[in-house]
Amino acid sequence: MRGHRVPLFVVATPIGNLADITERAREVLASCDAVVAEDTRHSGNLLKHLGIQKPLHSLPAFDEGARVEPLVHRLVNGESLALVTDAGTPAVSDPGSVLVRRAVEEGVAVVPVPGPSAAIAAVSATGYPEGRFHFAGFLPRKASHRSQMLAELRPLRAQLVFYESPQRLAQTLADLRAELGDRQALVARELTKVHEELARGTLSALERQFSGEVRGEVVIVVRGASELAAADPAFLEADVRARLAKGERPKQIAEALSGRYSKRHVYQLALKLKR
Ligand code: SAM
Repeated sequence: MRGHRVPLFVVATPIGNLADITERAREVLASCDAVVAEDTRHSGNLLKHLGIQKPLHSLPAFDEGARVEPLVHRLVNGESLALVTDAGTPAVSDPGSVLVRRAVEEGVAVVPVPGPSAAIAAVSATGYPEGRFHFAGFLPRKASHRSQMLAELRPLRAQLVFYESPQRLAQTLADLRAELGDRQALVARELTKVHEELARGTLSALERQFSGEVRGEVVIVVRGASELAAADPAFLEADVRARLAKGERPKQIAEALSGRYSKRHVYQLALKLKR
């Protein structure tokens, strides 16, 4: 059967702050026939908070493949389903992609209902100039796989976004430093929650900062391969203006930024901006 009109909605939900639920997510959850949830108890609480009562079907991460066919059957038979996960956007390091793929194969319309995602929230707060990012999700646990993946990421001229558990944060920061160099990075902890923290610095400084017990959820964003920074003239100009404002001389500025940009280019830019 092709071209079913009743869709599978893929609904983003808050990553901590319940006020981040969107109007559209509310409407879809209220109007669908049933909700498919990573954890029915967790999402049951969200629905209760929203004053919505719906049948809930379970789609746990560890068992997605085995649970999908009865759900596809429901869709094909005209039931509209809304897929949600414990937090954020389904299928982003969360279950959902198998169900979405099977729905597509069966000609069921898939309708994304966008909203919060920890990765996007963290990227939006870096202020880095790369203008693009690579979502790497959770790194493999096995050391050899981990370093192989990091070796693949090393030359990318894009911010690198990782999810990590708080217990492994310090070790992962150390691995990132060892494999990528001591780049600038952001650790975004407990986004949208009461104890939200955005810690910025080199990977080694962040490793020291988070060497003790860490609580909550974290996203790590690491600067891309360094030549990229040089590619954005607006960032260079902002750097030079800031240094001039602090009283640095054009020659000093050219020297300080010589690792990333042509010395002559910076010197001439600094002279021009100084005038
Ligand atoms: N699908 C979710 C999304 O769109 O962000 C991600 C689910 S993944 C299983 C869970 C990971 O997301 C956590 O280990 C953490 O790295 C990150 N995360 C989720 N909520 C977060 C928050 N409020 N603050 C920081 N990181 C968060």
